[in-house]
Amino acid sequence: MIAKKEIDKLLGSYDKKDIRIAAICSHSALQLFYGARQEGIKTVGICKKNNKERYEAFPLAKPDEYIFVERYEEISDHVNELAARNAILIPHGSAVEYIGKKIETIKIPIFGNRRVLLWEADRQKMLKWLGVAGIKTPKAYSPDDILGPAIVKFPGARGGKGYFVVKNTKEYNARIARELKAKRITKADVEGVVVQEFLNGVRFYPHYFYTPFSKDGFKCQDGRLEMLGLDKRIESNIDEIYRPLVFGVKAEPSYTVVGNAPVIMRESLLDEVLRMGRGVVDASFKLFGGIYGPFCVETIIDENFNITAFEVSARIVAGTNLYPTGSQYSCYIFEDLMSTGRRIAREIKVASANDALAKVVY
Ligand code: AMP
Repeated sequence: MIAKKEIDKLLGSYDKKDIRIAAICSHSALQLFYGARQEGIKTVGICKKNNKERYEAFPLAKPDEYIFVERYEEISDHVNELAARNAILIPHGSAVEYIGKKIETIKIPIFGNRRVLLWEADRQKMLKWLGVAGIKTPKAYSPDDILGPAIVKFPGARGGKGYFVVKNTKEYNARIARELKAKRITKADVEGVVVQEFLNGVRFYPHYFYTPFSKDGFKCQDGRLEMLGLDKRIESNIDEIYRPLVFGVKAEPSYTVVGNAPVIMRESLLDEVLRMGRGVVDASFKLFGGIYGPFCVETIIDENFNITAFEVSARIVAGTNLYPTGSQYSCYIFEDLMSTGRRIAREIKVASANDALAKVVY
């Protein structure tokens, strides 16, 4: 892991009057560039030539400047160009995926505490984090002792792709043999498999933001926790599996995330959801020096209002793309139309003005 003081030194050399926001042109980049523009911060898009048209199509959400790459994995070859532009990289889902393990060593200031990205990438660590946060998680099964419906997940961020549900160990073994034969999975996948109790209920994905710079509102550590939005993921084809079934056509259920939809929850559930977010922040301080900025907890709520969480995303999530002009919750915190992208830009501005960028950047 690159030393914090090395990043602080680089950050210290930045021209504070010209800090820029950099993002890989994917995932939530439109929202990030648009939000930065609203806050008067210039942006740099790390972009594959073929993707430029996507951003040019949205003039208010295109980056001020592009750095072109052949493959996003190459970003570590461009750190000097980024530093020359006083750039802070925003780690979104695609950045985490493309940069991979290099996130530990890449010499560029990253918004938030980069240690959190290691905790979110490792399922065992992530479940420990949720446990320390006091949040209920699904039962974990050993593959040879599956007691009831279980969802089977393979290593790596796959957005639900390739997951399946089995009812017992016999079904598990048969399915694994089938998947291996069809080369849809490898032996390494099977070694890293997670078999989890299948939770029944409604999925809710609250979008949180922790800031150390504001105190009014929902108190958390030295600052406050903001609930900026809420979404539900749309998954193919489980969400619409009735469509072939009504014609008697058999379909293999799949859980691949293909989009997001806005949702609102019963107001009384907010207490627990806010406490859950606070728990995640408190635990992050106990375990690895804190989480700053946006994160999301992936939850399922049952008919008795019990909330169980199966994942933490320790960064901006794609579900926030629903709310570029603010959400059904952010309007109760900010007079301005506040997206998560804009909120990040605002935080960088506030931190910079208070000479405290190093607090929220690593
Ligand atoms: P994940 O990759 O963990 O974000 O999961 C992708 C999707 O799989 C989720 O959005 C859920 O629909 C489903 N899922 C994951 N874990 C569980 C679980 N323990 N019980 C039920 N559904 C789950």
